[in-house]
Amino acid sequence: MARKKRPLPFIEDLEIIDAGSEGKAVGRYNERVVFVPFAAPGDVVDVQVVKKKKNFFEGKIKNIKKYSQYRTEPKCSHFGLCGGCKWQHLDYEAQKFFKQKQVKDALDRIAKIPYPEILPIIGAENPYYYRNKLEFTFSDRRWLTDLDISKENGGPENTNGLGFHLPGMFDKILDIEHCYLQPDPSNDIRLAIKNYALEHGISFHNARTHEGLLRNLIIRNAVTGDLMVIVVFNGNEEKIINDIMGFLGDKFPQITSLMYVINDKLNDSIADREVILYKGKPFIMETMKSPVEGKPDLKFKVGPLSFYQTNPEQAWKLYKTAFDFAEFKGDELVYDLYTGTGTIASFVAGAVKKVVGVEYVEQAVNDAKENAELNNIDNIEFYWGDMAKVLDKGFIEKHGRPDVLLTDPPRAGMHEKVVREILYMEPEKIVYVSCNPATQARDVALLHEKYDIVKVQPVDMFPQTHHVENVILLIKR
Ligand code: SAH
Repeated sequence: MARKKRPLPFIEDLEIIDAGSEGKAVGRYNERVVFVPFAAPGDVVDVQVVKKKKNFFEGKIKNIKKYSQYRTEPKCSHFGLCGGCKWQHLDYEAQKFFKQKQVKDALDRIAKIPYPEILPIIGAENPYYYRNKLEFTFSDRRWLTDLDISKENGGPENTNGLGFHLPGMFDKILDIEHCYLQPDPSNDIRLAIKNYALEHGISFHNARTHEGLLRNLIIRNAVTGDLMVIVVFNGNEEKIINDIMGFLGDKFPQITSLMYVINDKLNDSIADREVILYKGKPFIMETMKSPVEGKPDLKFKVGPLSFYQTNPEQAWKLYKTAFDFAEFKGDELVYDLYTGTGTIASFVAGAVKKVVGVEYVEQAVNDAKENAELNNIDNIEFYWGDMAKVLDKGFIEKHGRPDVLLTDPPRAGMHEKVVREILYMEPEKIVYVSCNPATQARDVALLHEKYDIVKVQPVDMFPQTHHVENVILLIKR
């Protein structure tokens, strides 16, 4: 006989005490941490526990007894379901405050080394419509909201939708009416292709049976005004594809790169597929102001599969912070680790003797080289490979010990072996750009063997989310 599970607790009057580092607000109940998504510090809430682990509960708000002073009315009608903007219910000042706190908490609890007062976080002037890239998914089984179900007796007319994955569910798509993340005409394009498909009876993809023609929609825009639209189809239905692409091209003449991909594999990745140009040019152009007085703007060619920072306005502030922290004199040898498409490397090249960039995505390295050429930068070299393998004594001997080391690793931070090599090569300065204060704190604790933290500057790249970037300047003792 199966053992009956004890019901999960219902917690009344739980006080929310922090915004949490993973975007789930935090309360405490009988010595246990309770994570409560969509709560705000200062709220008092009744919570149904939905997940019980040894050290923590996760709960769902059932009642808000007291509203936090930090709360604001979320703009978006999809708030609470969509995984995209989990902090929309916090006013922007509060978002910045709790991001700053996240950086401080990481340094206090994980790094546990001395650091100067953290500079006030650099916020965004535009906390909405800041993203230059969104990817949507078509589904013939969209997530049905209570409204959907109640509206129609016997169920909705159709269950097709185009939008975002619900957090943690690969086959559940939330149909999006309006998204506040990408500027016009992103919403118009998404709604137009959806309505066209509905009117013409074109099938939407099913993630379980792998049937249905329309699969993904990617929209990318650039500060130059360039606009790229990529439609991903699950099969080569020439006539329908031509009709849809023709419709988009006619309705949105501002699209400068109109492309499509045939992807009938089981997974959504198009990295190994041919991207077919339907109309316009095969890339969009980005520009970024140079940090060096009198130098021309930097240009970046962004192909359909190329990486480019998704909030360009804040990316500039982030790079400028790193640049200012380094205080280049002009004769430095600089390493740029995790260089991606070489944007930081190109950004600083005009102010130093030479930059060596390292990155493990081969296509990104090719883009980086092309971009350097495009900007007439001849003092950069890019190398390709896994950092923990590439960066060894031989590499350092061949290229020289850097005076300044810039590093911008992914969320996992740097491999310990990479940190050891940095300690071995002993650059005068390290500028550590991070998208995860926790792993950054772990890494700077190791670097503390020879380095002191001299400056700390958080930057808000992703308003309405819990994510925060942080730049730390370390100087050799
Ligand atoms: N500095 C760049 C990109 C930073 S994102 C920019 O600002 O645009 C981090 C980069 O690290 C990604 O391009 C990723 O491909 C690369 N990367 C991740 N793990 C790596 C590893 N083990 N070795 C080398 N590069 C790695």
